[in-house]
Amino acid sequence: MKAGRAQGREGAEPAPGPAEVLASARNNFSGGWVEDTLVIKAVRGTRDLLPPESAVWNFVEGEVRDLFRAYNFQEIRTPIFEETQLFARSVGEETDIVGKEMYTWEDRTRREGELAQSLTLRPENTAGVVRAYIEHKLWERGLNKLYYIGPQFRRERPQKGRYRQFYQIGAEVIGPASAGSESAARDAEILELLSSLLDRLGIKAWNLELNSIGCPADRARYNDALREALAPLAAKLCADCQRRAIRNPLRVFDCKVPQDQPWIEQLPRISQYLDEPCRKHFEQVQELLSALGVPFALNDRLVRGLDYYTRTAFEFTHGALGAQNAILGGGRYDGLSELLGGPKAPGIGFAIGEDRLVLALNRPAAGAEGKPDVYLAPLGAGTDREAARLARELRSQGIVAELGDESFRLKKSFEIATKLGARYILIVGENEVQSGAFALKNLESGEQVTVPRSELPPRLRPIS
Ligand code: AMP
Repeated sequence: MKAGRAQGREGAEPAPGPAEVLASARNNFSGGWVEDTLVIKAVRGTRDLLPPESAVWNFVEGEVRDLFRAYNFQEIRTPIFEETQLFARSVGEETDIVGKEMYTWEDRTRREGELAQSLTLRPENTAGVVRAYIEHKLWERGLNKLYYIGPQFRRERPQKGRYRQFYQIGAEVIGPASAGSESAARDAEILELLSSLLDRLGIKAWNLELNSIGCPADRARYNDALREALAPLAAKLCADCQRRAIRNPLRVFDCKVPQDQPWIEQLPRISQYLDEPCRKHFEQVQELLSALGVPFALNDRLVRGLDYYTRTAFEFTHGALGAQNAILGGGRYDGLSELLGGPKAPGIGFAIGEDRLVLALNRPAAGAEGKPDVYLAPLGAGTDREAARLARELRSQGIVAELGDESFRLKKSFEIATKLGARYILIVGENEVQSGAFALKNLESGEQVTVPRSELPPRLRPIS
């Protein structure tokens, strides 16, 4: 049997039921066959993080959590899927994310009278955090400093550093203006945190690109200027840009089509359209960064691919990442809460691409994992029980213990213990169990001693 082609569905038909979906999945199956058995593979653009690489991710997340603690951020976990409207209204209908990349589905109703909902796997996390801010009246807490770590989903063309399920480490500072949320000091604190994080992880060759994309009033004037400049050019631009030129001219800057770039290069720059308060705010951010010794470069082409940004917008890039060189991005979103039906709540945030952070880290995965302190080798029939009890005792005292099997010969146990990199091997034979003293061999030095049961924990405890 071979995988067949998809059956086209024409016209407005009722939504397929589970059996039909399953049948279609069988037809569209893209995996392989091993002796007539279906081999299912991870979906294109998704991947498994296996040990030892997963240890590098844990290392990164551990460092990040410590750093967030130092800056007094607290963790928030929002759902992985939300109502589609949340992203359409915040990220923007004309953005590539909403227009082309979201995983959206009509959720089936389970009961009569229940309304079907359009749901979407989150393509980013800021919208979800601001939704939660409004839903739980988080303004009552004053300034909220929240961080998240988790998967996001975008149907992009997969390549190195670009996945359809990718991970972001992000943070948001949001609250009433009276709590200082609008201050340039918040922008500087966020940017300084990011530079410290990259330095702490040993990622050296980063560049911070900074811009201000103004407030809605600036944006309206700038959009008018862009529309005017684009009108005579439109016919020369790609179909997407022709549409953007009318509906949301700022998004023209997201265009990746090489032939369009010389025209886009000639367009007016946002820096010429900032009003006095926005200009002043941006100057303050720059002054603070200089005082903190955080290097940056101004880039008035940087507009970010999401509509909700206002004022400060930034990106950190890294030379070693190739085409996908943006390691993180962020900015202010002073009007987002109101856009989602909440009170005025200025805010600023960022999202780091964790996949790219790990790539930039270039840290050898091997050795990143912890090794066992001891390998317990049961020897002879009936010794599994005592070895299991001993392992339980040692583990409860913080010792990393790996447990063998009484069916293994001693040679095999030694081979496994060595392969695992255990510091010690502990022989649990009948004689040892009866006498209460165990043969313990240091696999690095080769030294072997007999140790009473009660003295095992202090001997095996890792040297910290
Ligand atoms: P954005 O939410 O588009 O501002 O993206 C913030 C960061 O997330 C980017 O700078 C990337 O590091 C990362 N990122 C965005 N899309 C992807 C993707 N498809 N695969 C991997 N990382 C991504």
